[in-house]
Amino acid sequence: MSLADDWAQSADKQESVLSSKVGGLQLGAGDAPAAENGAADDVGSAADSSLLQKVIRTGLIKNKNDIEVQRSDPNSPLYSIKSFEALNLRPELLKGVYAMGFNAPSKIQEMALPILLADPPQNLIAQSQSGTGKTAAFVLAMLSRVDITKNYPQVLCLSPTYELALQTGDVAQKMAQYCPDIRIKFAVRGEELARGSHLDEHIVIGTPGKVLDWGIKFRFFDIKKISVFVLDEADVMISLQGHQDQSIRIHKMVPKSCQMLFFSATYNTEVMNFAEAIVSNPVIIKLKREEESLDNIKQYYVDCQSEEAKYQAISNIYGVITIGQAIIFCHTKRTASWLSNKMIQDGHSVALLSGELTVEQRISVLDRFRDGKEKILITTNVLSRGIDVEQVTIVVNFDLPVDQTGAADCETYLHRIGRTGRFGKAGIAINLVDGRRSSNAVLQQIVQHFGRKIHKLDVEDVDEIERINKD
Ligand code: ADP
Repeated sequence: MSLADDWAQSADKQESVLSSKVGGLQLGAGDAPAAENGAADDVGSAADSSLLQKVIRTGLIKNKNDIEVQRSDPNSPLYSIKSFEALNLRPELLKGVYAMGFNAPSKIQEMALPILLADPPQNLIAQSQSGTGKTAAFVLAMLSRVDITKNYPQVLCLSPTYELALQTGDVAQKMAQYCPDIRIKFAVRGEELARGSHLDEHIVIGTPGKVLDWGIKFRFFDIKKISVFVLDEADVMISLQGHQDQSIRIHKMVPKSCQMLFFSATYNTEVMNFAEAIVSNPVIIKLKREEESLDNIKQYYVDCQSEEAKYQAISNIYGVITIGQAIIFCHTKRTASWLSNKMIQDGHSVALLSGELTVEQRISVLDRFRDGKEKILITTNVLSRGIDVEQVTIVVNFDLPVDQTGAADCETYLHRIGRTGRFGKAGIAINLVDGRRSSNAVLQQIVQHFGRKIHKLDVEDVDEIERINKD
């Protein structure tokens, strides 16, 4: 049985438990339980990290990536647009796009928008990294597909969490700021409707459980009248069993003619197979990921005998060189909070980001750091990827990243230290090795894996420290 069949069947079985799952869509519902003291502080849920990525990458549009397009009929023409004018949007909508500061389409938008707006509608499966303009693209399509003479939901967008749904809705409201006639409704927790209500909004943006409740259980709107169906963060949706089942049930109810649009930052093979199985005849667009590399990173290690010594190493470095902003990675939240207290006592402005914070708290910590309100961000693995804070000059591994077996986690190392090279700025990485054999072994594994030397740094030697900033 194919994965899609499998899922479709399990979705059918889920029918009766549907509404009990809806209540589960709480803020940060997917959060990993707070780590025990001393235990590794792990990455939160996939949905949380998507949200954090969005926050981190606000305003970043990268156009250097290569794009790959697959379609079942290679003879059908494929357009790309270089300007928003070329899309023949409603003037008010175009005005909204410009008011958001978008002058030209991003790479993914160049390719996706003509497909999104094609007549007859075309199905699309699109993949590109967070921050490349996917949301803006599908929101623009959603808005431009609305027929304002019809007072019922025509466009349905599913997001995995409350926060992501709200983020998308926020973009839609901004883009539609000169189109007051387009109405949007959020189908998320906290939004309640009286029995017998009928939505007259054109666009529904929501989480799957609530959308199912509204569309099927209470019939607040007619899913059969939906002509555009967007699955945002498709990978997250599909990886969460409950959401997957609910999305399938919704998908089954939309008419065959409905335009299906799947967007995601990643698609593993399973998710892609699934997407292709349920989206008929899609155009598939993939924006190649910009590879991170260690090319402009100077890597050092410091031999330390204890956590105190590690702390002393950081103090010495700070005492000698002026550092823009720094991120310090710790293995456990206990170490992270101990370190941040110590640094605060020493008069440093420090932000602490760890897994026990709510999503809102994490966003606020990141916003402050990005605005430069704090110079040092101490974090656990909750932030191993995606932080493109340009001004970060030094990354310190207070603890080297290891996997569950204690071996070097080279992928995480690369995400912490690596740069995509687009800023062209050199970075400095400092690894604090605690003198134990295991820690040295991890360092050696990293050296071997990347084939790059990690230089020893003597933090008692002021000249040597000064040199790292000058070389
Ligand atoms: P994604 O959904 O791929 O994560 P977004 O659509 O959220 O990307 O876009 C990332 C950031 O770039 C947002 O802050 C958004 O407002 C901005 N943005 C999107 N498209 C453009 C554009 N064409 N020009 C300038 N900025 C854009």
